[in-house]
Amino acid sequence: MDRTFPRQKANLPWAWILAQQVLEQTGLRIRWTDQSHILRGDVAIEHLIRSSSDPPEGLPRVANNLSRAGLNFLRQFGAWQTDSVQNVWRFSVSPDITPKLPLFSAASRDWPAFRGWLTSMSITSVIMGDWSLALPRENRRAFAEQVLKAMIDASTVPVDPLLNASSQTLMASDGSCTPGMPKLHERRSTTFSTVGNRHAAVFSIGGRNTGILQAEVYGLVAATLQASRNTSNSIPIYTDHLNSSRLISDAFSNPPSTHAWATKPARSLYRWLLEMLTAINPPSRPTIIYTQAHTTSESLEARANAVADALASQSHSKPIRPASVPDPTFHMDEYTFFTKEDGYIESNISSYLSHFRARASVEGQTTLPFRSLYDQHAPPDHPYTRAPSAYSAVIQLYARSQQLPTAFSQFRRSFNTLPWCRTGCKQLETPHHIFVECPSFEAIRINHKSAIVGHTRTLLDSSEGIVDDSSKTGLITLAENLLHDHEVWPTGQSQYFLGMIPSVNSTLPDFTTGTPHKTVARTRVMTRLANTWHTEVIRVASRIWGELQRRCNHQRTILMRKEKEKLGEIWKSLPTHVQRCIPGNIEADL
Ligand SMILES: [Zn+2]
Repeated sequence: MDRTFPRQKANLPWAWILAQQVLEQTGLRIRWTDQSHILRGDVAIEHLIRSSSDPPEGLPRVANNLSRAGLNFLRQFGAWQTDSVQNVWRFSVSPDITPKLPLFSAASRDWPAFRGWLTSMSITSVIMGDWSLALPRENRRAFAEQVLKAMIDASTVPVDPLLNASSQTLMASDGSCTPGMPKLHERRSTTFSTVGNRHAAVFSIGGRNTGILQAEVYGLVAATLQASRNTSNSIPIYTDHLNSSRLISDAFSNPPSTHAWATKPARSLYRWLLEMLTAINPPSRPTIIYTQAHTTSESLEARANAVADALASQSHSKPIRPASVPDPTFHMDEYTFFTKEDGYIESNISSYLSHFRARASVEGQTTLPFRSLYDQHAPPDHPYTRAPSAYSAVIQLYARSQQLPTAFSQFRRSFNTLPWCRTGCKQLETPHHIFVECPSFEAIRINHKSAIVGHTRTLLDSSEGIVDDSSKTGLITLAENLLHDHEVWPTGQSQYFLGMIPSVNSTLPDFTTGTPHKTVARTRVMTRLANTWHTEVIRVASRIWGELQRRCNHQRTILMRKEKEKLGEIWKSLPTHVQRCIPGNIEADL
């Protein structure tokens, strides 16, 4: 969804608006992994039009007229059919619609235009994400299994001669990922292999949110699929992935509840594997057996494991990349995170977000907070037009454009300074640290806080009967926490040094009710309050910044004096004839 909702802040909870904006900023999408109702036609026409990217003008009215004629759902108009020439699903309109429409009605007048729209529609234009999400889960899975079997059959990887010659039937699978432990943002190559007496195949997994775990489990899925083609006896599948073999054997003795696997990484692959194994009758069900990797054993299972390992790990550098396998969307949670780079994300989403947030802040890509989440009153002119106040405006300008010369920003730019707070605390010297957290400036903040609360009380007391008591309490809480991190701030973080304050109107639930006279009076009070706070907070920012500069200059002076003293001592220790050779008059400076 590309819409943003800050204007809805009176109707929607902050958390929703913020979550939506974070998704927007990080490129994260939430994919509905089963949209088969659209293929079945179980979707309201009105909804289809609304979610269509570019509906022709007047279409919503047409839908209304058709609804009055009793036609509400897509399935009432026809069915989806494959267009074998263009290899896409298209909507085919059934011929007996026209007689159903009342003669000379609005619906029968609109019908030809609507029919044109329906026939022009392809499944890709109405499905969010990959079109295959329109297939029912079981069909998608059957399709993926067909593809995997065909890939194994078509594999040109030579079968190991020792395995081929052995009378003992067995299989092995292995996964590989390079780099071994990739960071969330790093590109990677993820491959897996399955080998047996009659087959050997290697595959790759796309996307950036995969790794060794996915490779190992997908390897087991492919091996189980291959083993399931032999229906007579149980085939052992050897893996060096202890976790998977344990998890599957535990799942057989103690079937997992739906929520038990809800947060497990690679859960869709585990679900697939378990369902596949459960569907095979015990006498012929393959058994997954753990075997140690890289042993010197000469047993056949060690041999099979070594072959599978070599196949998967050597395929990273092959000029032709192994074929990529389908995503197991049919076993994913109903709503799954997705990005273009990562593909489907089944890892922990909060660590995903903090990782990318931290990276963005180190790379200096942190964007300004969304202005729309904060107070919308225009700032007062006075602090910006009067010369003595200009310093506050400059601080704010630098802070907003991320040009404020803090130790951390200097460090990021040139790497020739230390990033820590110059007043001595072991914290990164970011604007938020200096203005909100740094204990060295707490006295200034406390001082101004009581001034802000004082002004607020005076203003509210003078507006008796205009602002109700509960709003007054809310406004005082806001005033008390302007200079600190607190939940009154939309993101929990104080942003006062950017000239922003939390919305004063958010504390007034009944702001739009009451007599026009009262509303106007209230608007006036709120504007005055917002202006007072704004003027006060930018003053705090400039005082703190000024104080930091003063301290840094003081330290520099002390440092220079010490250097000079040291130089003087060295000079004094020199023989007189050497002293005379040194240019400048050091003696006079001492
Ligand atoms: Zn500090």
